[in-house]
Amino acid sequence: MTTRVQNALDQLKTNGVRITPQRHAILTYLMESMGHPTADEIYRALEPRFPSMSVATVYNNLKMFLEAGMVRELTYGDNSSRFDADVSDHYHVICQSCGKIRDFNYEPLTEVERKAEQSTGFRVFGHRMEFYGVCNDCRGH
Ligand code: ZN
Ligand code: MN
Repeated sequence: MTTRVQNALDQLKTNGVRITPQRHAILTYLMESMGHPTADEIYRALEPRFPSMSVATVYNNLKMFLEAGMVRELTYGDNSSRFDADVSDHYHVICQSCGKIRDFNYEPLTEVERKAEQSTGFRVFGHRMEFYGVCNDCRGH
């Protein structure tokens, strides 16, 4: 088990959350894959080990991780949200052919947020920016 997974489990325990085997498996899968899976992908990956687990269990756990600030949700319409266990500031590059999402580290564009505030009078708390393209696998490399 990685330190990150252990730290996350410790944080949950501190918050009084019971660590069930499914909960442990979902969190580990999210943190170790780093592949921005959907709830359904997580369900299908873990279903062989937990045949009695339902998709609803996966959703409920993801919701709990979200509320604990341990996971970020990337929404793309109904039921196609992807989940990211890396909650640090970073951007994403998305393959428009297979849907794969890769992290792209770049200095957060906070000065653009200030410009948006100046321009609109809003209080801006954050932003989301994605890049679209075709991955190496889909280009046949
Ligand atoms: Zn692709
Ligand atoms: Mn990410």
